[in-house]
Amino acid sequence: MTLRDAHDWFADLGGGTRVALVVAGSFRSDAGVLLGHVPWTRWHPLVEDEIDEQNRLRQALNCLLVETSAGRVLVETGIGQRLDEKTSRMRGLEGRPILEAMRVAAFDPLTVDLVALSHLHFDHAGGLLDGDGARAFARARIVAQRAEWEIALDDNPRVVASYDQAELRLVRHFAEADAVDGERELIPGVTVIATGGHTAGHQAIVIRGRLGTVGFFGDLCMRPWSAEPTWLPSFDDFPLRSTEVKRELFSRAADERWRIALSHEPVRPIGRLEREGVGFRYVAD
Ligand SMILES: [Zn+2]
Repeated sequence: MTLRDAHDWFADLGGGTRVALVVAGSFRSDAGVLLGHVPWTRWHPLVEDEIDEQNRLRQALNCLLVETSAGRVLVETGIGQRLDEKTSRMRGLEGRPILEAMRVAAFDPLTVDLVALSHLHFDHAGGLLDGDGARAFARARIVAQRAEWEIALDDNPRVVASYDQAELRLVRHFAEADAVDGERELIPGVTVIATGGHTAGHQAIVIRGRLGTVGFFGDLCMRPWSAEPTWLPSFDDFPLRSTEVKRELFSRAADERWRIALSHEPVRPIGRLEREGVGFRYVAD
């Protein structure tokens, strides 16, 4: 079976480069926290229909499978399957973790050459181990920014709350060695770009083919409302940088007509960014 059958969404970028969306389940986050400093009267009408009784929104764990003539790349791994019952319930975890989602898509984890992570928060790097604690993608190089590894194991309480440090300590010995600095083409057509903003070592992943480009901006662009560069979750560590880098990336994406995959959008995760006034809007496919 080929990647063509694998999708929640699929695109052929030409020259043997194909991209599929695979959703590794979902979890729930406090709505107000996701909308940061945006006034309630502005964000609440946008999400009124999906908000639960605990004031939370369902956040999909969107991952991309990329197949090129030079190799196979998985972008993000979701939360994984190592949370205990109580934490799973607390986080409102639902759906298939990444390994199961890939199995359903007939995409063998052993064929993954590279795993690119936007950052190391628990909902992005949680799937690096299988349920038994073995490497989930045994052959793969794990690519995050070196700056992200440096901050992820810091003892600042704000950092401790956002990363699953116990898990990161378990994966560090095989996952940190292939960390990169700045912008890097990992294999022809697949590039990571250091962005900072959301976290100190956050990165975007851009997939280019003859027929088009797909941009994955991690948690700088998690939901449709993220198209507004000043609308940030309250857990962005460097909000001024987030806004600045969102403007830069979104300008390129809009002007060059990139496809965009949103990191946590459950209903319409694939679309484009268009310029609107001095900002942007997200237009779902
Ligand atoms: Zn996230």
